[in-house]
Amino acid sequence: MIGSSPENRPFTATRNACKLCTPLGAALVFKGIRGAVPLLHGSQGCATYIRRYLISHYREPIDIACSNFSEQTAIFGGGANLKIALDNIRRQYDPELIGVATTCLSETIGDDVPMFIREYRESCEGQDSPPVVHVATPSYQGTHMQGFHAALRALVGQLAEGGSPPGRHLNLFPGMVSPADLRHLGEICADFGLPAVLLPDYADTLDGPLWTEYQRIPEGGTPMAAVRSSGSARASLELGAVLAREKETAATFLQRTFQVPCHRLGLPVGIDATDRMFAALAEISGRPTPQKHLRERGRLIDSYADGHKYVMDARAVVFGEEDLVAGLAGFLAEIGVVPVVCASGGRSGHLAACIAERFPDHSQKGIQVLSDADFVAIEAAAREAQPDFLIGNSKGYSMARRLGKPLIRVGFPVHDRLGGARLLHLGYRGSQQLFDRIANTLMAAGQSASPVGYTYI
Ligand code: SF4
Repeated sequence: MIGSSPENRPFTATRNACKLCTPLGAALVFKGIRGAVPLLHGSQGCATYIRRYLISHYREPIDIACSNFSEQTAIFGGGANLKIALDNIRRQYDPELIGVATTCLSETIGDDVPMFIREYRESCEGQDSPPVVHVATPSYQGTHMQGFHAALRALVGQLAEGGSPPGRHLNLFPGMVSPADLRHLGEICADFGLPAVLLPDYADTLDGPLWTEYQRIPEGGTPMAAVRSSGSARASLELGAVLAREKETAATFLQRTFQVPCHRLGLPVGIDATDRMFAALAEISGRPTPQKHLRERGRLIDSYADGHKYVMDARAVVFGEEDLVAGLAGFLAEIGVVPVVCASGGRSGHLAACIAERFPDHSQKGIQVLSDADFVAIEAAAREAQPDFLIGNSKGYSMARRLGKPLIRVGFPVHDRLGGARLLHLGYRGSQQLFDRIANTLMAAGQSASPVGYTYI
């Protein structure tokens, strides 16, 4: 059983969507560019919702500007508001970049944002004015992940410059991973001697040290010069199995426009997927995998051998954004856990194929893939599948509570626990941490279910 489609549903409404709003993903990308300020073209409510979600996960102050729609703006259009907002941001933040993402309302009334920005630029002629990158993000058409990738595509599309001869650096498009993942990917590239430009890089802007004084724009992020030089990189590495099936992404744009070779891989979760990433880095850098990482790989295999009896044949419900679900499903297959339900609010149309690729025997295993799913549908499937645990973000908490099953928190948002930004999912090291959490969760569940607890395991 694979690929349950929303067309078969006896209702049309979404009930507690398994996705977040599209401009949220775009705002996250702009937070990962040095000196950038995200500007939401729409109402305060949208900006507040996005700030609230980002703050509760990253636990950092997060400024997102807004063009502050009112009833009149909705009727007469938002051009004047946008121009006032751009002026205010320039005055108050002195940014290196302003990233404009549209909301459902501005998209619905049909605001011509590129024209407003063009008019604004003309009015600033002769003044020192930062670049303004625009991305259309109607939330009713997509998910936060689509906003994320659309913003990256807009950034390189509007700022990248070619160069000859090409530079030594690598463009690394990691997807919407945690700051801990970004740091780890940076460390791996450095160990290969590869200067890597992470696009985006919010490792410091959204997970920095304590401030003694409030900073309007936090330190860190991909420098603007690095964004521009993405067109002259040695290669691009783009992570995400679902993303790799998309026709046009930031990395494919750079390949098509500037002939930057593009390597497209799944998220490196588990040994198999991480091996592929290390092989790609070895090929790009011309160096073998460093000993340090080979030892981490060895320790991971050792822990699989130690822990297989606790995880083998366990059943899991996996949910969240599509690339993470696909990556986790591959990892679970590797450790002997059956992901009986793989669910996402995304509707790329590629998730079922990604899961089927990893599980040619999915029918025999009874694996169900839900795309464009809400939490009511996921819970119904989970109730039927009788899983041992759930793995996904905090939005699945109430479902897990009603099902009486443990929830292992991964991805975004993790807002009912501390440390969401410090969760490591990727590489041999991240897989090790995930493996230990899964095995320990199953051991703890076994102890709780036992009338006598345990004496010796
Ligand atoms: S109205 Fe649209 S853009 Fe605004 S918060 Fe809701 S989904 Fe996001």
